[in-house]
Amino acid sequence: MKRVLLVGAGHAHAWLLSALAKEPVYGVRLTVVSPNARQIYSAMLPGVIAGHYKRAEAEFDVAMLAERAYAEFIPATVTAFDAEQRVATLSDGSKFTFDVASLNAGSTVANGVPGAREYAVPVKPFEDLIERVKRVGHIAIGGGGAAGTELAMALRHQGREVTVYSDRSIFPEELARRVERRLRRIGVDYRPGMRIDSIERGPLVIAGTARQEFDLVLWATGPAPLSWLASSGLRLDETGFVRVDRALRSVSHAYVFASGDCAALPEAKSGVHAVRHGMVLERNLRHVAAGTALEAYEPKPHALLIMSCGGRYAIAARGGWGAEGRLVWWWKNAIDRRWMRRLNATK
Ligand SMILES: Cc1cc2nc3c(=O)[nH]c(=O)nc-3n(C[C@H](O)[C@H](O)[C@H](O)COP(=O)(O)OP(=O)(O)OC[C@H]3O[C@@H](n4cnc5c(N)ncnc54)[C@H](O)[C@@H]3O)c2cc1C
Repeated sequence: MKRVLLVGAGHAHAWLLSALAKEPVYGVRLTVVSPNARQIYSAMLPGVIAGHYKRAEAEFDVAMLAERAYAEFIPATVTAFDAEQRVATLSDGSKFTFDVASLNAGSTVANGVPGAREYAVPVKPFEDLIERVKRVGHIAIGGGGAAGTELAMALRHQGREVTVYSDRSIFPEELARRVERRLRRIGVDYRPGMRIDSIERGPLVIAGTARQEFDLVLWATGPAPLSWLASSGLRLDETGFVRVDRALRSVSHAYVFASGDCAALPEAKSGVHAVRHGMVLERNLRHVAAGTALEAYEPKPHALLIMSCGGRYAIAARGGWGAEGRLVWWWKNAIDRRWMRRLNATK
């Protein structure tokens, strides 16, 4: 029987496990290693901060999901991964030997700016973030992408003063216009074209000649690879993410799959894409168990992006299409709640 190690309970593995709960896979022994028995769903995090959801409504029970899928759950992180020897080292020091591994462990936040590591709070892990934003008045956010701007609007909705520094826009033009208009309408101090050069004790943000002190600096400057990938022996792209073939297998070690943020794929790193990876991963795991040919993943360049805007108002975009308003928020709410029902189902 093949020993399959699932690293992380990201979107792809969450999909996979929920599918296996409905229709088990035979011939493999599954183990999930992920730090939190309950995990916050990223798309609902801004809603938790804005006060639309209780934290428990935005969490799924990883341990129970694993149990429903007939998988063993180990609450730990992988601290080292040796692809060649097929061994993962866990945070308690134990070693886990596998036949097949699947990495869906997400990413960390890029923090190359001087002082960011010491004086800014990264938006991940979410558990820490929720605690840190409590009871602070004036918050600076480094990074004006979807995560930075959604969090800015959620915090503003809670009455905080929020300043967003964004060196460049990563949004298509039409979406960028909608987001900027919304940020300004609800009173976020948005500073496009302004790069944070460094952060000093205070925390004091230095951007060009401007220096300003805040109660807290949040760091949301985009995904960076998990540190242990560098020594894994897996072939990585120039930014450090795992290079995969069309079946989402490592190009250097065919018995290691990678999906979601930790894989190097042409599409943007998002939960929506990661769930789609999970659908292919599910089919391919069944193929691995049955010894049949794997299926290819077809990337879709345009995924639906829906950003909540603090209040019960959201902006949607897909390719060149866009819409916004209260109805869009209810649409997002319905999608997110359906996903949580899928993951938290009791049978
Ligand atoms: C504030 C915010 C809001 C966002 N909103 C959206 C949105 O609305 N829509 C959207 O599509 N995307 C959104 N994103 C982006 C999205 O969260 C990521 O692209 C997505 O989570 C990536 O999913 P994943 O499956 O790769 O891994 P993740 O969902 O990030 O999960 C990673 C998993 O791996 C675990 N893990 C981490 N390190 C280890 C380790 N060493 N060993 C074992 N396990 C580990 C984690 O605990 C977690 O279980 C948002 C991001 C942020 C920061």
